[in-house]
Amino acid sequence: MTENMPTKPLGVALIGTGFMGKCHAMAWRNVATVFGGAHPRLEVLCDTPADKAGDFAAQFGFARGSEDWQAAVADPAVDVVSITTPNGMHRPMAEAALNAGKHVWLEKPMALTLADAQSMADLAAAHPAQVTLLGYNYLRSPAFQAAQRLVTGGAIGRPLAFRGVYDEDYSADPNLPWSWRMTHAGGGLGVLGDLGCHLISQMLALMGPVDEVTAMTQIAVPNRPSPEGPRAVENEDSAMALIRFSSGAHGSFATSRVARGRKCRLQWEIHGTEGSIVFDQENMNELWVHQMGEAGFTRHLTGPEQPDFAAFCPAPGHNFGFNEQKVIECRDLVRAISGGPAAAPDFVAGLRIERIIHAMAVSNGQPIRIEEAAYENA
Ligand code: NAD
Repeated sequence: MTENMPTKPLGVALIGTGFMGKCHAMAWRNVATVFGGAHPRLEVLCDTPADKAGDFAAQFGFARGSEDWQAAVADPAVDVVSITTPNGMHRPMAEAALNAGKHVWLEKPMALTLADAQSMADLAAAHPAQVTLLGYNYLRSPAFQAAQRLVTGGAIGRPLAFRGVYDEDYSADPNLPWSWRMTHAGGGLGVLGDLGCHLISQMLALMGPVDEVTAMTQIAVPNRPSPEGPRAVENEDSAMALIRFSSGAHGSFATSRVARGRKCRLQWEIHGTEGSIVFDQENMNELWVHQMGEAGFTRHLTGPEQPDFAAFCPAPGHNFGFNEQKVIECRDLVRAISGGPAAAPDFVAGLRIERIIHAMAVSNGQPIRIEEAAYENA
């Protein structure tokens, strides 16, 4: 289990202490306990103002807090920078960290615009000795990894169709206050960059490259309350798309942040020539598989036979959770830093996801080709 894990402690700077900041902190604190290797050195936790950073440093177990992220990424004691700030800070923080010689673990989406993401991928490609990894945690659950093995291993034959949805309702209330997530300058894309990109990360891992998308988007709540009065929502609340895969398969895609009653409905099914497979993140410990000749679907309950489950728990059916996905993601990062298998998606592979979400955002019902060559050579 300790193969390719660090033999010396890696120095860590974590920027941000919100939803994802805590999730990264838990991963950094648990990665060596679960997977072995040297425990990381939790050097500095950044947030603003300084006293907030100090309080969270104490809570998360970091040596010190700081409001100066530029100094933190340049600190010689830091080897890896975890970035969990709002989307608009991803590019400057990630590029500063790469330019300072650090490995980078960055939350999705990569950036506000496709041009920014391209620039980040180019910089990462120019620093091949430094590992980059994007926070596509849903790729890591044991059930998803098992599904990927079944599909790519041919268990359901040749995939013909993918039907995917990622719905939540965190913006369904029209009285929800306006926030940075709803602007081009702060959030970039709307639900496509927030939720849709996760579904696309899984879709690409299961189905392979995309040739073409045809999409429509909708802003369901055009204005939201703020202390200054109603402010405009600039980015999409929902999107739907049809997809052509390079393999000849086709797909449908839908995502919404205003889907009442849905909490984390990251759900998809694939129909193959010899079977079908179904997954829903709200029931992330179940995978449903049908193989030709069977009457219906068989439930595969998460357990030690699925990838990475046994590192957490020896007993089947005792369930795996959201934050544990991030521990596996952190393992993939530190293993890659230590010369083990490449961690995916890195910034160059992540550009493939950005191309698709940005194409969907501007499609307006017209087919848009996804240019593989542009990122394959990035
Ligand atoms: P959040 O608002 O909960 O946290 C953002 C943090 O960044 C806050 O602690 C804030 O104080 C801090 N911050 C802002 N400006 C800063 C600065 N200049 N210096 C230091 N710290 C600063 O947001 P969140 O929900 O954690 O989202 C953050 C990122 O994580 C977003 O890019 C989002 O898309 C992504 N995210 C990913 C997932 C996932 O499943 N992978 C889930 C939620 C969010």
